[in-house]
Amino acid sequence: MAAVCQRDDVDLRVSSEVLSFAETSSAVCVTTAAGVTLDGEALVGADGLWSRVRQQLLGDGAPRVTGHLAYRALVRQSSLPQRLRSMRVTAWLGPGLHLVQYPVRRGEWLNVVCIVQGTAPQDLQNWDHQTNAADLRVALAGVCSPLTKLVEAIPQWRLWALCDREPLRRATQQAQGLVALLGDAAHPMRPYLAQGAGMAIEDAAELGRSLAEPGEATKMVAPALGRYAASRWQRNARVQARSIRNGEIFHAQGLIRWGRDWSLRLLGERLLDVPWLYRR
Ligand SMILES: Cc1cc2nc3c(=O)[nH]c(=O)nc-3n(C[C@H](O)[C@H](O)[C@H](O)COP(=O)(O)OP(=O)(O)OC[C@H]3O[C@@H](n4cnc5c(N)ncnc54)[C@H](O)[C@@H]3O)c2cc1C
Repeated sequence: MAAVCQRDDVDLRVSSEVLSFAETSSAVCVTTAAGVTLDGEALVGADGLWSRVRQQLLGDGAPRVTGHLAYRALVRQSSLPQRLRSMRVTAWLGPGLHLVQYPVRRGEWLNVVCIVQGTAPQDLQNWDHQTNAADLRVALAGVCSPLTKLVEAIPQWRLWALCDREPLRRATQQAQGLVALLGDAAHPMRPYLAQGAGMAIEDAAELGRSLAEPGEATKMVAPALGRYAASRWQRNARVQARSIRNGEIFHAQGLIRWGRDWSLRLLGERLLDVPWLYRR
């Protein structure tokens, strides 16, 4: 933020909730909750899962409730018994659930995210619900003993009900006229490929490239946004779809679960390589 504020060509306004926008052929005007109106040559809605800009642009209703609940905890490794401390990224997979743990802050803390399937709390927009560790233990009944011990050693969990949207179907869902969507506003996805923020960053890089192409400033903004959308929507849709599939594989039961475990044993880390995603 400090770096942004140092630039003369940026007017940063925080705590300014955008309520709506109005578009003419050469400008977009947004209105904030404080009643302020602001004009610009374009509007990029990077306002997340519950995007107001998207609602006005596409009018496609609220995000989809996935039925997946993310229990999250951040715990000091020194507060854990020695055998539960870890400097590795570890994923535990089970029927209808998975848990990922990894060290953060030079390994002093352990971040743990456990996804189970269940009923979402009413207030879906709150991503930091208080929760009862006992509920999580019930959801994990029957898992192996090392995982039970880890979960039991963590006293406090927060809850986030996961929502997403159908993968994009066309470029005009990502940009129309002088208005474009970026990141979760355009393509909120399940976190099972760990790519939501990654795709938002790729969107931003591509938007910058498209707008930087030479041309007569305002006349070229709409085509530039069109180019941006055209180059991004299919990749985003593919990542959205793959994230859903990964979740199904992580949570699989029966034969798929058996095949997954054998594939992991045989192919190991090679299975986690996704060339179309990482080698562009
Ligand atoms: C459990 C979990 C784990 C994840 N793990 C990963 C991971 O490992 N790797 C990864 O790449 N991604 C991950 N993600 C996804 C990632 O968090 C999101 O994709 C990313 O934060 C989206 O960024 P964004 O800027 O598009 O939206 P957001 O981060 O949601 O930012 C939107 C911003 O817009 C503001 N805003 C909202 N409405 C308005 C308004 N009306 N007016 C003005 N401002 C507004 C908000 O206050 C917010 O600051 C994970 C997500 C979850 C739920």
